[in-house]
Amino acid sequence: MLIADIIRSKGSDVVTAAPTATVAELTRLLAEHRIGAVVVSGDGRHIEGIVSERDIVRALPQQGGEVLDAEVRSLMTTEVVTCTPKQTVVEMAELMTRHRFRHVPVVEDDELVAIVSIGDIVKARMALLEDERDQLIEYVQQ
Ligand code: AMP
Repeated sequence: MLIADIIRSKGSDVVTAAPTATVAELTRLLAEHRIGAVVVSGDGRHIEGIVSERDIVRALPQQGGEVLDAEVRSLMTTEVVTCTPKQTVVEMAELMTRHRFRHVPVVEDDELVAIVSIGDIVKARMALLEDERDQLIEYVQQ
């Protein structure tokens, strides 16, 4: 199964924020869309960074509530690991486990086209395993 298959079923909406948006605005986006990370991009197509809820939680003990007024770019991770629609779900599961993050933006021709979360990957892998199990049961019963 490919990342393209996941995108086909879940869609290609990606919530982005400008690097100059405030962390307060970012928390509103996370809550409103019920997501765990936002891609940072000035034009919505080229990736400048990624900020997840973990970045905000880690900044809070050091900066306190003032972090809400800071710009998103002060918290974002700039070395963003991305994938393409042609990569496999298994490859992504390994990548997310190795790097210990739960979000991977999908790019095609250097442009942001979607995002996959660990939830999407687990759901796709479960469906694959269930299909395989059904096929094996059918095979054994024949
Ligand atoms: P997450 O597990 O996705 O909430 O993110 C954990 C940490 O990894 C945070 O510091 C994120 O900014 C960072 N992060 C999340 N996704 C990526 C990614 N695709 N590439 C690089 N860093 C990431």
